[in-house]
Amino acid sequence: MSNKWSSTRVQGIKFSEIREVVTKVEAAKKQGISNTNFSIGRPDFDTPDHIKAAAKDALDRGMVHYTASPGILPLREALCTRLEKDFQLTADPDEIIFSSGATEAIYIALQAILEPGDEVVVPEPMYVYYTGWSFLGGARCVTIPLAETDDFLLTADRLKEFITDKTKVVILNSPNNPTGQVYRREDLEKIAELAIARDFLVISDDIYNHQVFDDAAYCPIAGFPGMKERTIIIGSFSKSYAMDGWRIGYLVAPLPIVSDAMKMHQHIVSCPNTFVQFGAQAALEGPQDCVYEMADEFDRRRKLVISCLDQIGLPCVRPRGAFYAFPSIRKYGMTAKAFSDLLLSEARVAVVPGSAFGDAGEGHIRIAYSTSYEEIEQGMERIGEAVRNL
Ligand code: PLP
Repeated sequence: MSNKWSSTRVQGIKFSEIREVVTKVEAAKKQGISNTNFSIGRPDFDTPDHIKAAAKDALDRGMVHYTASPGILPLREALCTRLEKDFQLTADPDEIIFSSGATEAIYIALQAILEPGDEVVVPEPMYVYYTGWSFLGGARCVTIPLAETDDFLLTADRLKEFITDKTKVVILNSPNNPTGQVYRREDLEKIAELAIARDFLVISDDIYNHQVFDDAAYCPIAGFPGMKERTIIIGSFSKSYAMDGWRIGYLVAPLPIVSDAMKMHQHIVSCPNTFVQFGAQAALEGPQDCVYEMADEFDRRRKLVISCLDQIGLPCVRPRGAFYAFPSIRKYGMTAKAFSDLLLSEARVAVVPGSAFGDAGEGHIRIAYSTSYEEIEQGMERIGEAVRNL
């Protein structure tokens, strides 16, 4: 909706189509129509009790004032320990900024490094905001269409075709939203060599790093020789600890980039929410069983979704990470949007059209299996019925 006060900046970005579907589901609910919701990509689990208790305790102890801009030191230290333990990544507390979710972290990172004329290269299908974030940084988002025939995987050879002298940064997201694919170690190693040879930065959006299945493994690109100096690692508590509503995430980057990103961070939020930081510290320092129990449950649901899709006859590259399946609906000759609308009206199942994740997502739908096993059974059953009637 444009108005005479609207800036060209804001006119150049779009509303999230994921949120559009969520709004439709909520509107239907108000009218008494309940839908199975496969649209929202967030764990349906509650935040583990020990994390909540730490945040409550912080409130009770009067932790209600601003903290240091990058977040409290014990939290940054706890993250260094966790990164080392879980992923053999070394970081210094000064290289970390805690942010309002990964959302703010990616935004400030791009604002810190982009200049007009720069190119941001992103494999597509891709998370909905990368294009807008690049635009807000005055840069152009150059997308690499990935095909399901290549299992939606990025190789260094494919990436090479899109690198120019204007390439400032490549954004990688593995495990991937929306495809559920996990990049192979050997590909990442070659991509790292390319980054060094062609002198570009990498933003490694690693927020699904605890949700990896089958024989897939999360491989942080920052771990390859020479890469820590040119990688901005993006992390979040939203998916691993079921803390999406807490709005806490982080970036880990080389010091000069952290210093620039910090200026942006101060201009936007001053510092992360104080009592939330204590919850986040408890998440990092406390027992990690909850993380792996949730991931195991996602795996159980993933197998269910795969077997239902097979039965229905919707071809799908086997998802091996995050909590999304991205089946093809091409054989029905409909746009992803029309197909998703049909599922909502005929099957009362909300999914996100693949086109929401860029042109390369057309012909697919994203199913987020972040709802209960029973709901998935029922929802997939109704998708099957709707598809049989086509
Ligand atoms: N990056 C990806 C790939 C995502 O899927 C999401 C959220 O769904 C985000 C970033 C933002 O996460 P956060 O909740 O930490 O802001």
